[in-house]
Amino acid sequence: MIAELEHRFDRVWTLTQNVDGLHHAAGSRNIIDIHGDVHWLVCTRCGHRWRVDNYARISIPPSCAECDALVRPEVVLFGEMLPFDRVKSLQEQLMRGFDAVFSIGTTSVFPYIAQPVIDARRRGALTVEINPGASEVSHIVDYRLRTGAAAAMEAVVRALDHA
Ligand SMILES: [Zn+2]
Repeated sequence: MIAELEHRFDRVWTLTQNVDGLHHAAGSRNIIDIHGDVHWLVCTRCGHRWRVDNYARISIPPSCAECDALVRPEVVLFGEMLPFDRVKSLQEQLMRGFDAVFSIGTTSVFPYIAQPVIDARRRGALTVEINPGASEVSHIVDYRLRTGAAAAMEAVVRALDHA
C-alpha cells in the first residue's frame, strides 16, 4: 500500500526502523531504512559489502570474499551510530518538508522516528497516526486511526480511489 502511494503522489518517502527489506520487496523506491537492511552483509575489516537474498545459502560463520575476515549484517545494533547516509537523507527530506506525514505502527520512542511528525506539526502539515495503541506522538497528531497498519492503509488507498 505504501509502495502504491509512490505512484500516486509526486514525492513519497518511507522512513522505517524495519531491517527486513520488505519495503524494497514491495516496490517502494524512496526508502530511508534508518536501522539498515539485514540483506546486506558488510566486512568488519575491509568494508566490502554485498547483498544476500537467501541466508540459507551463506557459509557459517560468514566470511568476506575479499579478505576472509568476519562479516556482519549491515544493521544498527543497540548502542551503535545510525548510518550517516541515511541520517543525511532524512535531514534533506525533512528540510524540504512534507504536506502530510503518516506514523504507522511505531511507538516513536526514538527521537529520529518522532521527528518527522513533530516537524510536520510545526509546519502545519497534516499528521496521521495509525496504531492500535498509544505512542510518543499520539497527543500531537491531527488524526489517530486506532487500528492495524494493513487495514488502515487499505482503507486509505481505497479512499484515494474514490477521491
Ligand atoms: Zn573484507
